[in-house]
Amino acid sequence: MAVKCYADAMLGKFARLARVYGIDMEYFPSTLSDNEILGMLKGGILFTSDQELCQRSPVGCVYTAQLDMVELLYRAACLCGKGPSRCAYCNKELYILPGESAFFPLPPKVKAYHQDFFYCPQCKKLYWKGSHWARMLKLFKEVDSKLESEGCHNRG
Ligand SMILES: [Zn+2]
Repeated sequence: MAVKCYADAMLGKFARLARVYGIDMEYFPSTLSDNEILGMLKGGILFTSDQELCQRSPVGCVYTAQLDMVELLYRAACLCGKGPSRCAYCNKELYILPGESAFFPLPPKVKAYHQDFFYCPQCKKLYWKGSHWARMLKLFKEVDSKLESEGCHNRG
């Protein structure tokens, strides 16, 4: 059973990448106070670069200040588990659409070069594996190989 991950407003890039990597990630906007954030934690693990917030967290907390993106995603996968890719913007699980069933008007070049499409049922957005995706995939492969070589025994 996957556990919910939470990230504070400083960690927007990490939160978006974690969702696409398949981690159930709640991202708190900067308009929330520390007390409001603490009140919204329902089990799970909080990722924050705010040491005081981390110490006050009623749930598990990862203090992120010294951690690079591979390490962050690695810990999130270990502590929260991961499933299918999620929408970077809203955290809903994405549907995978084979190219021929993509009923959206797409540029012919996109249709010609891409087979797999992802659809967010909440944002009604369609994604495909463009150059941005290739960069993310490279990062995700690094995390995968760290998970394979180290397992989750050394998680912090
Ligand atoms: Zn979405």
